[in-house]
Amino acid sequence: MNGSTGNATRQSGTSQRTHPRRYAAAVASPVAPAATAAKDAEASALVARVTQYATGGPNDRAFACMIATLCTGGGALPDWLGLDPAAFGCLLVHHFPGFRLDTPPCPGRVPDPARSEERRELVELMLMDKAGDSPSEVWMAHVVAAGCMGSDHLWQDLGLWRRADLSALMRRNFPALAARNVKDMKWKRFLYKQLCEAEGIYACRAPSCEVCIDYHACFGPEY
Ligand code: SF4
Repeated sequence: MNGSTGNATRQSGTSQRTHPRRYAAAVASPVAPAATAAKDAEASALVARVTQYATGGPNDRAFACMIATLCTGGGALPDWLGLDPAAFGCLLVHHFPGFRLDTPPCPGRVPDPARSEERRELVELMLMDKAGDSPSEVWMAHVVAAGCMGSDHLWQDLGLWRRADLSALMRRNFPALAARNVKDMKWKRFLYKQLCEAEGIYACRAPSCEVCIDYHACFGPEY
């Protein structure tokens, strides 16, 4: 299994709709609580604005949260959600026609070129099992792959507001792939394990998950 799937053992309590920035502040953030609350409010207001333009598509809410989180400096996605600017523009028109961002979603995060092959493999893995209902699935595959380059829980790095939103989008966009995650493995771990298995690599240190000392890294809670 790829080493970049690690760093998934931090835990903290959270409510169902708590913004991920609040989790970060609860752990070790140098950001003052008032500043964090202001950013959360800013993100919530932006989600409300964006969703006024939503077409009612299944990925509207997830993309609205990702965009709002990125625009307010949260999550770990690169500029433009990790898409090229033209693709981001198409996404915006497709999901939120008529909506205009006040400033580009560009906090100055550039994808690591050394990991482009890794991102490409993740995108291909997801697209092999895309639902086939919407071009939105292609953007989602690229965005999820970009989020996998982060070092926190994937749903937080994507800028979602709860892990259940990530599970839902995986099942919605890549149903056959998601269906193979029968034990509810953490999504990033699951994706990299799929890549390893496709290449015939067995990187696990134990013969089965049940007896593995890394069990909680692969299946533990993601708060
Ligand atoms: S819990 Fe399972 S998938 Fe995770 S490292 Fe151990 S054997 Fe591999």
